[in-house]
Amino acid sequence: MSGNDAVVTPLRPRRPCPECGRPSLRETYPFCSKRCKEVDLNRWLSGAYVIPGGDDEEEAPAPEAGKPQD
Ligand SMILES: [Zn+2]
Repeated sequence: MSGNDAVVTPLRPRRPCPECGRPSLRETYPFCSKRCKEVDLNRWLSGAYVIPGGDDEEEAPAPEAGKPQD
């Protein structure tokens, strides 16, 4: 009822989603969506999963078996 109520001033600068660069949402901060959040989480988990146990003397290429090629 009194002028510009539609203009909301953000309290803090919005961070772009680390996955796709879109503005992040408060619900899924710092990501823009649940999807991007899961993508990042999955990457992190898979990255942690790959860490070998006491096998860091040589940088051997990880065997990629069962990868479908098209
Ligand atoms: Zn995103």
